[in-house]
Amino acid sequence: MIAIVVHGGAGTIEPARHAAATAGCAAAARRGYARLAAGGAALDAVQAAVRALEDDPAFNAGVGAVLTRDGTVELDAAIMDGVDGRIGAIAAVPDLRRPIDLARAVLDDGEHVLLAGAAAWAFARRHGHAPAPPGTMVTARALARWRAQRIERAAEVGGGTVGAVAIDGAGRLAAATSTGGILGKRPGRVGDSPLPGCGTWADRGLAASATGPGEAIIRATLTRRLALAVEAGATPAAAAAALLDEMIATGGAAAGAGVIAVDRAGRIAATHRTPTMAFAAVRDDGRGAQAAAGTSTATAPLEAQLASAG
Ligand code: ASP
Repeated sequence: MIAIVVHGGAGTIEPARHAAATAGCAAAARRGYARLAAGGAALDAVQAAVRALEDDPAFNAGVGAVLTRDGTVELDAAIMDGVDGRIGAIAAVPDLRRPIDLARAVLDDGEHVLLAGAAAWAFARRHGHAPAPPGTMVTARALARWRAQRIERAAEVGGGTVGAVAIDGAGRLAAATSTGGILGKRPGRVGDSPLPGCGTWADRGLAASATGPGEAIIRATLTRRLALAVEAGATPAAAAAALLDEMIATGGAAAGAGVIAVDRAGRIAATHRTPTMAFAAVRDDGRGAQAAAGTSTATAPLEAQLASAG
């Protein structure tokens, strides 16, 4: 059994952008799947998939990230190895072109779990990163959305956050998430994505990556509770649906949220309670690779899609 699931963010994706979001997710899933099919580790597969999504300006990660209140770019990311619980994360780091690669460097270095803010650049430079030249990470769309929000003063969730979860041929699970956060956030704000058990989690039973309003996801410790629910016997899809519904019912996430997951049996979920979520998955359960991708407007019946993709 090998499998990878990626998401390109839960929120409201305009119909005109569905094709690009779906294509970007499908390409990233294929990139990660190629690692798994070659015998690679789940950790390397989720990093490769998220790097592909960071490079795609259609998503709110890497180039194309949403802007802070001050019009700047600050990135959050995390990558976690389910084998031993090692995690590397970065938060609110300005002008970082490859957030997931820096998070991986934090994981491999092992001294700390999370580095934050401009001070993280000393570590980043030692690991081969250089700040993006001014303006080069800001897409025309990100700028237009920022200007519109300043005029309307609307509180808006960023959407377009990216994530990946995988199980490799040795049964190892891993998760990764990368984001510019939410549009118009205060500089210095840290969302759920880089926090273990909130936006990103992997252990020996489950790997998960969440998307949606970070403050609500942090309060819910969404991905950790998902892992506990699956450990207690629930399927990833049923547990994800129950937890997302609970977040909405308790008022934590009125606008909804989404989560992707894979468990050690290769059961997968791409579940959301938002108007849309972009996702893609590739799985080989011994009968050949099956793939599914879409920008769903309803809870994605991913297992059914994979079964029929055959
Ligand atoms: N969860 C992200 C954050 O709050 C935003 C998103 O997923 O759209 O930083």
